[in-house]
Amino acid sequence: MDRPGVRMIIMGRQGAGKGTQATRLAAACSVPHISTGDMLRAAVREGTDLGLRAKAIMDAGDLVPDEVMIGIVGERLDRDDANRGWILDGFPRTVGQAEALADITAQAPVDVVVELVVPNEIVVERLSARRTCDSCGTIYSVGDAAIADGVCPKCGGTPVQRDDDKPEAILHRLEVYERDTSPLLGHYRSLDLLESVDGLGSEDEVHARILAVVDARVASDPS
Ligand code: ADP
Ligand code: ZN
Repeated sequence: MDRPGVRMIIMGRQGAGKGTQATRLAAACSVPHISTGDMLRAAVREGTDLGLRAKAIMDAGDLVPDEVMIGIVGERLDRDDANRGWILDGFPRTVGQAEALADITAQAPVDVVVELVVPNEIVVERLSARRTCDSCGTIYSVGDAAIADGVCPKCGGTPVQRDDDKPEAILHRLEVYERDTSPLLGHYRSLDLLESVDGLGSEDEVHARILAVVDARVASDPS
């Protein structure tokens, strides 16, 4: 079935499964998956000015300044492939970013904000076990059979533990989420854009839950 384009923000604590689910949704809806974390990690790998500035901030689990992030996302949303829609993963993360996004998208506003709900104890376990391909960014878990040989089956790169998935940084990132990002949930709820989806269960189950809420929203949207 062809789905109409969708403009969607995916939110949730670190480790809630945003990246995995956003990748699948982007394919299902034929819109780009725009992950600010992936964009920043690519800049770090390539050693660009942005990457050099962002690396220490990211390793510590702190936030890159709003004006930098707003610039990056504004440029990305301007590209042709973002015409039919997009899935934003990792942005907005502060009230300032949300306000800027509302300005940037004034002509074609967000259709839905999906919050993936997963309890704190579980995300800590998931993040500690997470391994990320150092070349293509695919996410695995330490025990996955697919990476038993230490090689990414998609690209031949090496799955590694991100510096910010080490224990000290995990707790700090979760605090930053509570403090800076969770206030956005109430903001989007008051705009009647928020859909909270249970993030527990298999990847397929969670994917189906998200598609159900997105289809209900976008089908009832005359644009
Ligand atoms: P996670 O949500 O698991 O922490 P991400 O891949 O979304 O991981 O982001 C990794 C890091 O990149 C963040 O900890 C932060 O330093 C930086 N970052 C990503 N998106 C933003 C953003 N919108 N604003 C500020 N910093 C960001
Ligand atoms: Zn890879």
